[in-house]
Amino acid sequence: MTNDRRFQRQRDQLVDIIREKGITDSNVLKAVGRVPRHRFLDNAFLHRAYEDEALPIGHRVTISQPFTVAYQTSLLGVKPGHRVLEIGTGSGYQAAILCEMGAQVFTIERIKPLQARTAELLRSLGYRAVCRFGDGVQGWPAMAPFDGIIVTAGAETVPQDLLRQLRVPDPDTMGAGGRLVIPVGPRTHQRMMRFTRSGDDTWDDEELDDFRFVPLLGDTE
Ligand code: SAH
Repeated sequence: MTNDRRFQRQRDQLVDIIREKGITDSNVLKAVGRVPRHRFLDNAFLHRAYEDEALPIGHRVTISQPFTVAYQTSLLGVKPGHRVLEIGTGSGYQAAILCEMGAQVFTIERIKPLQARTAELLRSLGYRAVCRFGDGVQGWPAMAPFDGIIVTAGAETVPQDLLRQLRVPDPDTMGAGGRLVIPVGPRTHQRMMRFTRSGDDTWDDEELDDFRFVPLLGDTE
């Protein structure tokens, strides 16, 4: 059996696992079934690439658990053509899932060597995410507004710049307000939150399940 077929079978099994854990969005499940997660890991972890686990990728950073990626992606409600900003590129796996779903992806990473390596990997796999080195806490004003912003590191507070860079809903075109999906809390555990922009100065907020992420560093004031 070729490597590709072996990995495809493992990917299908991973899709079954995260479906059983409660992910129902078929577009998200399809994307998990397509993205070659083994390419986002060190060879040493190849045999564990399709376990539903976070794994180390160097620089004291982990590739997120596939369930967590699927959970956050479902909350974003990604549609083809949506502009989505990711804070915390890391391995690039989450960015690849968003690209598979047809989003226009912008992603920021604050560890320079990791950023460079991942930008090159995404390009070589044909994922057209726009990658940037920097502190994502300020968002990416030049590329705003965004239909979705996803933070893949745990934030102690909600960065106000990110809320401001969400799309304002437009009743004339029925354009929906942008959504920010962000784990918020102390280092030890965070609560997933979703903020949906409802007007110039208003956001609806929802508190969801608990997770544990790598910390979001930078100036969140
Ligand atoms: N989305 C990644 C998860 C990586 S872990 C994946 O799919 O693999 C979180 C990442 O956020 C780490 O790489 C960390 O360096 C980065 N990070 C933390 N604070 C940041 C900040 N202020 N700006 C940009 N990236 C940040």
